Amino acid sequence: MRVPPEPSSLMEIPMNLFDKDGRLDLSRRLFLRSTGGGLLGSGLGLIGPAFAQGGGGSMPGLPPSRPTGRPFPEMEQETPVEPGRRLGWAVVGLGKFALNQILPSFGESRCSKLVALVSGNRQKAEQVASRYGVDTRDLYDYQTFDRIADNPEVDVVYVILPNALHAEYTVRAFKAGKHVFCEKPMAVTVEECETMISAGREAGRKLMVAYRAQFEPHNVEAIRKVRDGEIGALRLVTSDHGRILDPKDPADQWRMVKSLAGGGSRYDIGIYSLQAARYLTGEEPVEAFGQIANTKDDPRFREVEDRVAFQLRFPSGAVANLSSSYSTASVKRIQAFGEKGSIILDPATEYEGNKLALQTEKGRQEVKVKVKEQSQFAAEMDHFSQSVMNNHDPKTPGEEGLRDILIMQAIYQSACEGRPVSMEATGSTR
Ligand code: NAD
Repeated sequence: MRVPPEPSSLMEIPMNLFDKDGRLDLSRRLFLRSTGGGLLGSGLGLIGPAFAQGGGGSMPGLPPSRPTGRPFPEMEQETPVEPGRRLGWAVVGLGKFALNQILPSFGESRCSKLVALVSGNRQKAEQVASRYGVDTRDLYDYQTFDRIADNPEVDVVYVILPNALHAEYTVRAFKAGKHVFCEKPMAVTVEECETMISAGREAGRKLMVAYRAQFEPHNVEAIRKVRDGEIGALRLVTSDHGRILDPKDPADQWRMVKSLAGGGSRYDIGIYSLQAARYLTGEEPVEAFGQIANTKDDPRFREVEDRVAFQLRFPSGAVANLSSSYSTASVKRIQAFGEKGSIILDPATEYEGNKLALQTEKGRQEVKVKVKEQSQFAAEMDHFSQSVMNNHDPKTPGEEGLRDILIMQAIYQSACEGRPVSMEATGSTR
């Protein structure tokens, strides 16, 4: 049975996205089309409850077969850059993820170097600067951040702040003339994502969303296997991402506050489940159905949602059954089921130690994936530095982040209204 979302969740739906019939308004469609993305050029609207009625056949109006997408960029070679050339990066926000994963990863990067830090805590910034060899002249706080415009050493600003601050610091960084690498989720509303994309265009600077799983070797190999037909036609993707939200952990405290986090588990770790469905199918969903469940009287979920179960239908007929949770033991699992076999990534999106298995009629076989010397974090940062140096579009630009927020909001709309939401996808954009 569907558990109705809390009132705070209901308020989150940006109703101006939709007209009175639940369809995406035309001006937005035109904007989206101009950005060239997958939901882009499509309409979001309400149609019959195909999921609820268990409609297994193809939906009226949907293409009967999988659209042919362009190959995934990770399968393409990077253009070599001038040996030894590195772009200067400024990291904004010295929290848990920045300190434990990102700053150490600069040591493995080939064309990205840490040159500046932005923090509200001067003492911490100085300690970190001394550890990573950053000059104290290159330390900023949130008030002095805009002076980064005068620092020619900084090419890229990496935003690692609570979700609701991503848009502000991205726009300020573009105004300072820098390129921006932004943590996921890109922002908390569609409007913020659009503003970030426009600000980048106006500044003539690049924007990339930090979707590390698209640089993680086991996920990249899983995508290759699906594309190469090793499991036959892809029919179903399942993915679950869950963990216990810990109110004692400072990094989880803002995650309980809607004005900082934007939402609950779906924005934080549900993004991984959604991304998996999109990068494994290589398609954009045409229909979404969501359910939200909050444990009664749990103070952690006064403002943000706990569990989200959501389903997506793709143009080829493939479907995805996905979830995110803040109240279940850690799970980071992705599975892809095809006509000839299945792929199991478990764990799928850990920082390290992910595992890939292939299940066919011959049985289950662990797949040894060559893990590069570089972490997925160094790989994604270097990819962005190379995109800037070579003037290429990055693999996961702002439009990719915007698509996820659009889909997440369609899932939310579906949960609030208790019926599926249709997205008239025009096919794959990948
Ligand atoms: P965190 O709380 O540890 O870090 C947030 C930082 O922002 C802290 O340094 C904090 O002092 C600073 N900050 C500035 N203004 C703030 C304010 N008004 N309220 C609260 N903090 C403020 O959180 P985190 O876990 O490091 O997450 C930061 C971002 O990184 C989030 O967007 C999150 O989604 C993302 N993240 C990504 C991954 C990944 O695997 N890609 C993993 C973890 C976190």
